[in-house]
Amino acid sequence: MHEHDVIVVGAGGAGLRAAIAAQEEGADVAIVSKLHPVRSHTGAAEGGINAALREGDSWQDHAYDTMKGSDYLGDAPAIETLAQDSPEEVIQLEHWGMAFSREDDGTVSQRPFGGLSFPRTTYAGAETGHQLLHTMYEQLVKRGIEVYDEWYVLDLAVSDEAEPEERDCHGVVGYDIQSGSIEGFRARDGVILATGGLGQVFDHTTNAVANTGDGVAMAYRAGVPIEDMEFIQFHPTTLPSTGVLITEGVRGEGGILYNSEGERFMFEYGYANNDGELASRDVVARAELTEVNEGRGIEDEYVHLDMRHLGEERIVDRLENIIHLSEDFEGVDPLEEPMPVKPGQHYAMGGIETDENGETCISGLYAAGECACASVHGSNRLGGNALPELIVFGARAGHHAAGRDMKTAEIPTGKRGEWDAGDVDTPVEPGDVSGGGAGDAVADGGAAASDLDPRELVERTTERAIARVEALLENEDGRNHAEIRSEVQESMTQHVNVFREEAGLKQALRDIREAREDYEDVGVADQSRTFNTDLLHTIETRNIIDLAEAITLGALAREEFRGAHWRKEYQERDDQDWLRHTLLSWNGGSPELWFKPVILEGEDKRYEPKIRSY
Ligand SMILES: Cc1cc2nc3c(=O)[nH]c(=O)nc-3n(C[C@H](O)[C@H](O)[C@H](O)COP(=O)(O)OP(=O)(O)OC[C@H]3O[C@@H](n4cnc5c(N)ncnc54)[C@H](O)[C@@H]3O)c2cc1C
Repeated sequence: MHEHDVIVVGAGGAGLRAAIAAQEEGADVAIVSKLHPVRSHTGAAEGGINAALREGDSWQDHAYDTMKGSDYLGDAPAIETLAQDSPEEVIQLEHWGMAFSREDDGTVSQRPFGGLSFPRTTYAGAETGHQLLHTMYEQLVKRGIEVYDEWYVLDLAVSDEAEPEERDCHGVVGYDIQSGSIEGFRARDGVILATGGLGQVFDHTTNAVANTGDGVAMAYRAGVPIEDMEFIQFHPTTLPSTGVLITEGVRGEGGILYNSEGERFMFEYGYANNDGELASRDVVARAELTEVNEGRGIEDEYVHLDMRHLGEERIVDRLENIIHLSEDFEGVDPLEEPMPVKPGQHYAMGGIETDENGETCISGLYAAGECACASVHGSNRLGGNALPELIVFGARAGHHAAGRDMKTAEIPTGKRGEWDAGDVDTPVEPGDVSGGGAGDAVADGGAAASDLDPRELVERTTERAIARVEALLENEDGRNHAEIRSEVQESMTQHVNVFREEAGLKQALRDIREAREDYEDVGVADQSRTFNTDLLHTIETRNIIDLAEAITLGALAREEFRGAHWRKEYQERDDQDWLRHTLLSWNGGSPELWFKPVILEGEDKRYEPKIRSY
């Protein structure tokens, strides 16, 4: 068994920052990651990172823009923490050597981004994430932090008291992708989940194939509530044939959207009379699809994004990467013609419920980055706000797990604060979903693990994970994961997309239920122990099913239109009944729905909900 003070699962921006922070506190920290750190999806981030760095800007304005962007569903303590801590964190990156784009006088450049009242987005060309990841990886190497890379975490070692709020997390179980060996990792002080996004729940996404929401699904099955899962961001500018992202930086630099009539529709049809193309992402995505639905799309599918008027020199200086992406993935030279773009799944606003120190309701279990929900983004994330979230909350989780005395969190986690039970009318029972997968936590149907000491608990969890993997391998002729996965992805893209209606959501639930039944007989044809991606994708598919169900149940439950969640039957934001977060808890194998209030009280003011227009 491996043993460390703090174990970080995931080596993207959030995981690296968390590990560095824990090490700064003197902890013996290790990272366990299914990808090598610099292959993490943070490397794909293009446009930039928000922080109030300049005169004329302030953390208060950053917080206000974020709250407005969230459509008043973000929690003020999390939003204010993001806005207050991000300048220092960005300056720290600069001191570590991150190659930010600069003005002629040497100051770091900032550009406008959607929904921001100030050009607050600091960037490194259109490769901000790549630079950020490499800068922090250098720090990791310099500090000698141990990385178990290409180790897939299968499970969390969590005790099994009846209430999740009484449970403890003592480690994880890892699968060595190179050798096939399954081993326990004991964490003396804490486990930090930093496993990134869940874009693979959909079939048109900007996310990598590795973004299967593993950490969210594992934490959920271990008893941690998952929050606001219905809020999925669909980015307005993705390439139609692949889902590859064209950064908002293109519109930030002055790129224009046109429909098939050559009209600048954001203004022409009044979608956003002030900010036009730079309205918030949910607004632009709906505008594009409305154009397509009303017959003004191109090839009935997409619209055009034109940046030719910016001139070659400026494009090459600030957006060079976009030329290559458009040429390589769509065969379009954006210096010569407009790029075809359409909305695609991009980001999960919801995730593992945490407080502003990254702590979950299970003692010793933390989460940070895209897999977590503190909640900073509420119902809609502003572009450029995910990268500061990684470093701000990654650092806080790392410091806290390693024992730093932090200010007591204001955001309650678990059923400890004020909450209401929920109910949702579904066409099928979400049902017992315990069979088949190799990702269940010990708490899921386990024997009395609360009596075991931490090392025994990790050993027990490891034995169970080995048994589950063996069972998958023995069922050589079982159902193939790929068919089941694509059924779920297609149904989610068809029914749980930008525009949602009750009948479609219920159809998606039926499809997910069917996929779950098919998964009962899933098997792995490839019997090898080395780089067995068939096995790993089979395990990931279980996570995709659980999260697809959670997203759809949340979408059915929320009977209003807020931020990224549009409902045909409910065309208004309903502050009377819905200023509350949706939570799902894993209760004996089926999802239990409940709600907790949004916190709009900031440090020295209340963020009064206003009409959100751009
Ligand atoms: C194309 C694109 C462009 C973007 N551009 C911007 C931008 O300009 N500005 C901005 O603010 N945001 C942007 N975002 C959003 C932002 O980049 C992401 O939200 C963020 O990088 C996620 O970082 P992370 O550390 O949470 O996860 P990731 O970087 O995805 O890292 C996840 C890590 O978890 C590991 N992992 C996952 N599951 C397991 C498992 N079972 N076992 C072991 N390890 C596991 C992976 O190996 C990986 O190391 C963009 C997103 C995309 C997709």
